[in-house]
Amino acid sequence: MSEDQSVGGSEDQRKAARCILKPTRESKMEIRSNLKNMKFVYAVLCLFSSAAFAQEQPITLRVGTLLDGKGGVQHNTAIVVQNGKIREIDPAAGSGYDLRNVTVLPGLIDTHVHIAWHFGPDGRYQPRDDSQVTALGYALENAYVTLMAGFTTVQSVGSPIDGDARNAINRGVLPGPRILTALRPLNDARLTPEQIHEYVRKVAADGADLIKVFASKSMRDGGGRTLSKEQIVAACGEATARGLRSLVHVYDAETIRDVSEAGCTTVEHGTLINDEVLRLLAERGTYFDPTVGLVTENYLANRARYLGIGNYTEEGFASMQKNLPVGLDMFKRALAIKNLKIVYGTDAVAGAHGRNIEGLVYRVEQGREDTRSAILSATSLAAESLNLGDKIGAIAPGMEADIIAVDGDPLKDITALRRVVFVMKGGRIYKGSANGVKPR
Ligand SMILES: [Zn+2]
Repeated sequence: MSEDQSVGGSEDQRKAARCILKPTRESKMEIRSNLKNMKFVYAVLCLFSSAAFAQEQPITLRVGTLLDGKGGVQHNTAIVVQNGKIREIDPAAGSGYDLRNVTVLPGLIDTHVHIAWHFGPDGRYQPRDDSQVTALGYALENAYVTLMAGFTTVQSVGSPIDGDARNAINRGVLPGPRILTALRPLNDARLTPEQIHEYVRKVAADGADLIKVFASKSMRDGGGRTLSKEQIVAACGEATARGLRSLVHVYDAETIRDVSEAGCTTVEHGTLINDEVLRLLAERGTYFDPTVGLVTENYLANRARYLGIGNYTEEGFASMQKNLPVGLDMFKRALAIKNLKIVYGTDAVAGAHGRNIEGLVYRVEQGREDTRSAILSATSLAAESLNLGDKIGAIAPGMEADIIAVDGDPLKDITALRRVVFVMKGGRIYKGSANGVKPR
């Protein structure tokens, strides 16, 4: 993870830290000018800044039903949030935001989105923008609707503009989910292993949070293998050496076996996987993100907006239509594999941003996944797969205060997750008071 992306440290904490550091630098300049007055002003400013940090008022959320993201359920309690983190869960805490008639759970996580993808002014998919400024504008719009839908963390895999969107949101002014990004995916099968090492090193140095690798063609082009095992080992091995995770876009069983054996972190899609290789993923602890339920459905629903661009051909659409039941069958078989770590990623592209929950609804309604496991896959298990299991994905003391509330009980009715009435990220409320949920 890059420095900019760090989930810890509120602005106040950073300000307080600067106050401790700065006088040392200032003291060096002391001889050159009379800084007495300035030093006084500075000391006062620091005092205010530290005081604001030390005295940040806690926010209390009164909760009727709490799903903690790890499978636990609590009733009639309260969450106390301070300095961006969950301080405690205490039924005896005082009054606060009234979330007693809704269900509270951790902010949701989508491990596979393309936050930059958008339709252009003509309503059609616009793969390239005239300018970086235009691209960033669209990415931030997508980020906003994603946050409002209850997703407080997304992994975007990726586009060069993702890093700018991530950094803009991390500056703390514009609303959006935490963004982890692969920046520039590795998608050139002609590269030698040595060139792949170099490519990964460059993307890592440019601030990627993870490395995305294409080991298969698109399913619109048949989904065939593109990388040798040696190339896959080079990509995932170099990612690991840089302290980064690796996500691999891959469809067929044989290539997926190589991906798992190469130590890559997560298999994306896997439409043509067999049970034997599913069991291998479970044994080796390779995460599996089946991306069913939203991406293909979204393409089909927005056919006219994509048709005729790149590989969005008539044949491509026919192939996607044909593979819908194949994907559903694969997902049902995956559910039956013991200890397989199935995470929640949608592959949200243009037309799907803000509708990220639809894949989870599909998994429960069509795939017959139980609601508890579906919620875990989009909270604590997703967080674990991002190496952020100790920071996000659960409601517990010390965790980042990423908290949402939905109208209804998603354990009984998964569609309740469509009705997000409250969103807090890092202790700040982005949605709630305008939706009938007010402090009492
Ligand atoms: Zn994707």
